Amino acid sequence: MKALNALVVRALPLVPKPFVRRTASRYVAGETLERALATVSRLNAERCMATLDVLGEDVTRKEETEQTVAAYARALAAIASRGLDTNISVKLTALCLKLDPAHCRGEFARIVEEARACGNFVRIDMEDSSVTEETIRIFHESCERYERVGLVLQAYLRRSLEDARAAARARANVRVCKGIYVEPAEIAYQGREEIRDGYAALVDLLLQDGCYVGIATHDEVLVERALSTIRRLSLPREAYEFQMLLGVAGALRRRLVAAGHRMRVYVPYGEAWYAYSMRRLKENPAIAGHVMKGLFSRG
Ligand SMILES: Cc1cc2nc3c(=O)[nH]c(=O)nc-3n(C[C@H](O)[C@H](O)[C@H](O)COP(=O)(O)OP(=O)(O)OC[C@H]3O[C@@H](n4cnc5c(N)ncnc54)[C@H](O)[C@@H]3O)c2cc1C
Repeated sequence: MKALNALVVRALPLVPKPFVRRTASRYVAGETLERALATVSRLNAERCMATLDVLGEDVTRKEETEQTVAAYARALAAIASRGLDTNISVKLTALCLKLDPAHCRGEFARIVEEARACGNFVRIDMEDSSVTEETIRIFHESCERYERVGLVLQAYLRRSLEDARAAARARANVRVCKGIYVEPAEIAYQGREEIRDGYAALVDLLLQDGCYVGIATHDEVLVERALSTIRRLSLPREAYEFQMLLGVAGALRRRLVAAGHRMRVYVPYGEAWYAYSMRRLKENPAIAGHVMKGLFSRG
């Protein structure tokens, strides 16, 4: 399967853009804010909250961050004026974290100020391990200025349990995910079951310590394990939410919503959809299979 995925990734640039667009359209709301807001509106009608992600990461020029900050400011204003139930998710490398952390801090602070003015919440997505430390530092600094900022912890990273303890001390709002980047064995669990165990341990620790947790997974085993912890702790619905990606695991999503759990859907949008899709696939060939399926199963 690995070899097949690698082959698919190598062949992707040869796939005509309209085909990639067709597949991406399941996972990406569109190129414009208007399209993203229409998707949020539809999700809200299905009793799902959302989080908006302006596509674009790992910028190579400082000037590019201006556009990203402006796009988030426009999104926050539109969300407020239309009364939509969505927050925002931000990647710090789109604000130049790798090239210039000081510049990134300044730009992120501007987004946080816009969110404060609109009374909204900002989630900092977690990226590859070269920026974990700095991302967590910026999260803790930002919380001192505005409490409605959240962090993401990746279950595959060996360090995450320690990071969760620190997050719990700060009563942080934490999204827990498995982690999407390819990381070496010295720092990251590789096996399916050990990643699941790491995931469940993070969710348990954070919920037990009173943190609000975003349980971001489509893995039914992990959803069940989280539900059993929620029952054991007799937690109210307001203490956690489930989170899923746009276009993934619709049946499981509907089941959780019907059972009365909070659900938030991650909605990426923006002109960078093509570059984003290709980069994601190259970063983690394991998801190339989904594109392959998408290419051939939708007419
Ligand atoms: C809301 C949300 C936010 C996230 N934020 C981050 C983040 O900040 N940083 C980060 O590193 N990762 C993030 N991720 C990605 C996450 O780390 C995983 O890579 C991804 O969710 C797949 O893991 P899983 O727990 O769903 O389990 P898996 O075992 O990978 O998936 C379970 C099942 O879900 C289905 N599935 C999963 N992904 C897809 C897909 N793309 N297309 C179609 N079907 C799929 C498959 O049927 C699969 O069998 C996020 C995920 C979600 C849901």
